[in-house]
Parts: sequence; structure tokens; C-alpha cells
Amino acid sequence: MADKSKSEQMKDKLFYNKKHGANLGVTADADAFCEQYKVFLDRAKTEREAVKFAVAAAKEAGFVPFDSKAKYNAGDKVYYVNRGKAVILAVIGTEPVEHGVRIAASHIDSPRLDLKPNPMYEDSEMALFKTHYYGGIKKYQWTTIPLALHGVVSRADGQTVEVHLGEDEGDPCFVVTDLLPHLAAEQSKRTLADGIRGEELNILIGSRPFLDDDASEAVKLNILSLLNEKYGMVEEDFLSAELELVPAFKARDIGFDRSMIGAYGHDDRVCAYPALMAILGCEAPKYTAVTVLADKEEIGSDGNTGLNASYLKYFITYLAEMQGGRGHTALENSKCLSADVTAAYDPTFADVLERRNAAFINYGAALAKYTGARGKSGTSDASAEFVGEIRRMLNSAGVQWQMAELGRVDLGGGGTVAMFIANLGADVIDIGVPVLSMHAPFEVVAKHDVYMVYRAISVFYQ
Ligand code: MN
Ligand code: MN
Repeated sequence: MADKSKSEQMKDKLFYNKKHGANLGVTADADAFCEQYKVFLDRAKTEREAVKFAVAAAKEAGFVPFDSKAKYNAGDKVYYVNRGKAVILAVIGTEPVEHGVRIAASHIDSPRLDLKPNPMYEDSEMALFKTHYYGGIKKYQWTTIPLALHGVVSRADGQTVEVHLGEDEGDPCFVVTDLLPHLAAEQSKRTLADGIRGEELNILIGSRPFLDDDASEAVKLNILSLLNEKYGMVEEDFLSAELELVPAFKARDIGFDRSMIGAYGHDDRVCAYPALMAILGCEAPKYTAVTVLADKEEIGSDGNTGLNASYLKYFITYLAEMQGGRGHTALENSKCLSADVTAAYDPTFADVLERRNAAFINYGAALAKYTGARGKSGTSDASAEFVGEIRRMLNSAGVQWQMAELGRVDLGGGGTVAMFIANLGADVIDIGVPVLSMHAPFEVVAKHDVYMVYRAISVFYQ
């Protein structure tokens, strides 16, 4: 081969070049990792189901329930469940906890349709549920797709029963109806945001009357009798329930080359699963490794299971105090990868992203120094030094990564849990998988990027 010209040599030396992940020789590993990720996607569509999955996997890997009064030694593995909706897993390090821990934080709630407290009604001999959407959705995307019902009902007798209907082949499922185009002339004049309104997201749940008699609301009565048979519940039990409609379809490979996965709720199970696998595979780390899978991120992280609450802080404080250290010192010395998704560059909608600072699928884990909106408002901004530390760590371990912003300046924006952990005093940077069609019922990611986020968190824990 001819020698490179002087300018080519200088370009090699000075320019920042990115390469497609297919050149890295890890495709088989990425594909294998994602087979199990798809199993997780199908089994854990809500935060409660993700916690159950994580706890079962943790027990199998030797983790035991955390006891705030116990003493733990290096190599010990513990988990702490917060109200069945968030979980912290930790492997105790050889360094004192006061010297800081390594946190990977992601969320296990995803946008969906929640039932209203008093959801059931009958109209024109059809039974329906009223919903209140959870998280940021484009409402029109949630009509005319099969939906499954997940959640819990706290009955009058004090028992909590689980509902999980619409996922198995033989199960019935549910749907939000939409207008036929023939009669949509008026609807079509609405804006896209207004095309389907919140109060139009009504779930069709039945159409046969209880008996062929003249009782009013006979269809509703029939549905309630079926629910009573199956779950022992009466209508008032809906008031103390958390019932959620999620897309009923399973995770599928996308593309002739099977390079991508389409599924409901990649945001943020596509980072939660790598964070879970990284902690399960973590043995005797130097610094205590902590994975937190949080709830409520999609609605702002407030509430006792969201990361704006104190349970992560208290957990680390307990660990530090158990060794005679101070909690706040441990937090100030801690480092965190806030593992959440970012927008992937979509050539069909190219104008919302600024190409030079956008995340591309198949280019590895996407880091974000800051998120937020309107001049970096509502975010933490990782320091140059901390970004440099993570950059060197990933480069030396051969983990492919890219730096990205979520969209063009002033076009919109978004936040993650990063700022809540940064506010505790830790160094935090966002890292995650680029997603196409984020927050849609069927989101798309590249397998390569999922694997790179797993590798990044694993290296961070070592
Ligand atoms: Mn997210
Ligand atoms: Mn989100």
C-alpha cells in the first residue's frame, strides 16, 4: 500500500473520527447479550415486574436482602427493594464506602396508559375504561394497537392481587379505537398533538350483556362479574389499584440483518438491563458497586420510589456508617453513570438533530455531558475532568462511545435522573443507548449499542 500523504497522516493524528460498530468484532457478543435482553423486555413491562425479575436474578447470583443494621464485608452482595417499584443492588468493595461508591442508575418505568381511579363505564352497550396517560406520549400512537393490562389491585379484604392479561397467546387484549378515515374530515383538521385527546384514550373492554334482560349497564355488569370471578374484586376495588395498559406485542428483531430490536419500553429498560447484568457479574470490586433501578423518572422522579427521593442517599449512608464512615463524605466521593437513553439520529427527521452532536445507532454508548433545555436548564453538567476520566476509562477498555446532545438547541429537550444524584454531591454523567421512535409503543435500538452500555458499566465497576 502506498504511504499516506502528509495531510492524511496529520488528519489521522488530529481529527476526531468515529467508526461504525460493525468494525469492532463484537457483533456475535452483542447478539448473544441481546437474546437475553429480549426475554427481559417481554417479562418486565412495568417497574413492578422489572423489580421482580431483578430480585430473582440477584438471588440466583448470591445477593441477599439488605439489612441496615448488619455489617458487610468486601465481596458481599445485597439488594434493597423499595415498595416493589424500585431496587438497589450492591456489591461491597475493598475500599471503605466513605471513599465513594460507583453508581449506575437507570429507570424501569416507561410511558403507558394508566387506568383512572374510577375507570369503568358503559356506553351504547360497550364497556370501556377511562385512562390517564403516564409520561410523555404522542397520544395518536396509542390507538388501534393491542394493549395488555398489568398491575395490582388492593382489595377491600386487604389482599393485593396481581393482574397480567393480554400477553399470552390465548389471552384477550384491549384496544383504543380511532375514527375511520371516511369520517375523519373534522378530526384531520386537528393538530397532530390534538389528533387524539387525553379523554379519547378510552379502552374497549367488552360488549356482551350479563343476561338478556332489561337491567341497565348489563355489559358493564358482565365485565364486573368476570373480574369478580377471576380476581375476587368489586368495582370499588379500582379505587385502590394500579392498573396499566402497555403494548401487548413482544420484542422482535428488526431488519433483514437482525441488527436492531423493536420493543415497548426500551426507555429505559435498555439501560436498566445492562446495569443489572453488570452488577450481577461484579465480583470483589475495589469501590462498592451500586446499581439502582428507579421508578417515576418518566413523570419527573418525584415520589418515594423516584430518584428525587432519599432512598439511594440513605442506602449509601447506611453502608458508610456501618463501617464507621460518614454518609455525606461517601456521597461526595461517589461517581455515577446515569444510564438513560438518548435520541438516535433519524434520517427521516434529520432537521431536529444537529448532526455533529447527535447520537447514531451502532456507534456505541452515547454519553451526554448535560441534558436539559433552554440553555442547559434543568440538568447537571459533568465537569471536563470527570468526562475526561470516563473517556480514558472507556477508551482504554475498548468500549465504543460517542458524545451526544438530545436534539437541536431550543427545539425541545429532556432530563434524566443525573441531576438528582449530582445534587447529592457525586460526579455524574449520562450514558445510554440511542433510541429511534423514543416513547412510542414500539421503540428501536441497535444491539451493538446495548452491548456497549453493558460493557461501559461493567468496566466502571471494576
Ligand atoms: Mn429515560
Ligand atoms: Mn423517557
